[in-house]
Amino acid sequence: MPPIQTLTVLGATGSIGVNTLDVVARYPERYRVYALTGASQIDKLLAQALQFRPRYVVVLDEASADRLARELKLAGSETEVLCGAAALEAVSTAPEVDAVMAAIVGAAGMRPTLAAARAGKRVLLANKETLVLAGRLFMDAINASGAELLPIDSEHNAIYQVLPRAHREHPYGQTLADVGVKRIILTASGGPFRTRAAETFAAITPEEAVKHPNWAMGRKISVDSASLMNKGLEVIEARWLFNAPPSEIAVVVHPQSIVHSMVEYADGSVLAQLGTPDMRTPIAYGMAYPERVDAGVKSLDLFSVGRLDFEAPDLARFPCLRLAFEALEAGGAATAVLNAANEVAVAAFLDRRLSFPGIAALNESVLGALAGLPADSLEALMQADAAARESATAWLAREGVPC
Ligand code: NAD
Ligand code: MG
Repeated sequence: MPPIQTLTVLGATGSIGVNTLDVVARYPERYRVYALTGASQIDKLLAQALQFRPRYVVVLDEASADRLARELKLAGSETEVLCGAAALEAVSTAPEVDAVMAAIVGAAGMRPTLAAARAGKRVLLANKETLVLAGRLFMDAINASGAELLPIDSEHNAIYQVLPRAHREHPYGQTLADVGVKRIILTASGGPFRTRAAETFAAITPEEAVKHPNWAMGRKISVDSASLMNKGLEVIEARWLFNAPPSEIAVVVHPQSIVHSMVEYADGSVLAQLGTPDMRTPIAYGMAYPERVDAGVKSLDLFSVGRLDFEAPDLARFPCLRLAFEALEAGGAATAVLNAANEVAVAAFLDRRLSFPGIAALNESVLGALAGLPADSLEALMQADAAARESATAWLAREGVPC
């Protein structure tokens, strides 16, 4: 029996957080929860705390903290309530913690995730924005502390599974070419608007955009999937996770989301990881690595899938993917700028203050204006993030067209 792993789940109330706790619940003899965190949905967090009995729950505001503490006490729970960003870092670095599931959405997840990396934890990385914002710094922190980094994003988890072990565990010890890898092929579902005519994009509503054909996810990543910004963020994520030059990363649209990504080797072999689209597969893989456990996922029924299709991404209708490659080429803080602009754009779109095509227009404008900012320290990156948010807000006031 493997030793018990003690886990902090950052973003426990979200889609990844809930799937993580589903895996935890299947293996009470393997996993113990140290802390659960959430920014909203306090009732859900309360129910999770009562079921998993963590030492701490963390919320962001005092009012929620007071309410939660009262309700926990009433229910006879010994879980303590902490509040604020510093507490997120504390529960990610505590000596009792073995692994941290980084599943907060957006740049807000970066600091506790980086703290877990610096503290040498097993980092289960769902929060791709950490790598988009501070990829080099984060990978340096992982290398310096000897932390284990397991990608949870399904594509990156797939690539991790089919890369040679030496490279996936120590990607900066050699190049991809050194281990015989020619390129990484990221698959993309194409999102809900894959076949929709560009002339109708201005009429797209938030309800349509969050309806992903294959995955049930949080609202932000769902909109990113619809604009293909998500695939762009994933290209940047792959660049850092696998020490992959952008020229060795390709994107292929695969509407069935059965092939979760591929690696092409020098001898012509292409290795892929396939499965039913269910985030519990990569989550359980990361949690149990290097073992494999039953994650409750439906067996892949190839007969009912029937066929696997592949097509080239359409960069004219989905310019956000092109912007991600351009930001990578620009270097410095450009990807941090793109990430921050996109967060403002997506929030405005979900609020009906910005049309769907406006997301790419805003991102392109802010990236064009601020791509040259430096990235030599965490402070510089945070300044670039703040400047991009300011510039995006000004753009919205000037040119934003509501949907
Ligand atoms: P979600 O919106 O469902 O959940 C987000 C979680 O973060 C919630 O617990 C929320 O309370 C918390 N949160 C939100 N803002 C916060 C803040 N400012 N400070 C602290 N906590 C905050 O999102 P999700 O779909 O679970 O995605 C989480 C992360 O995982 C994202 O980075 C996403 O890109 C990545 N990811 C998700 C999926 C998926 O299937 N959902 C797949 C791959 C990667
Ligand atoms: Mg993904």
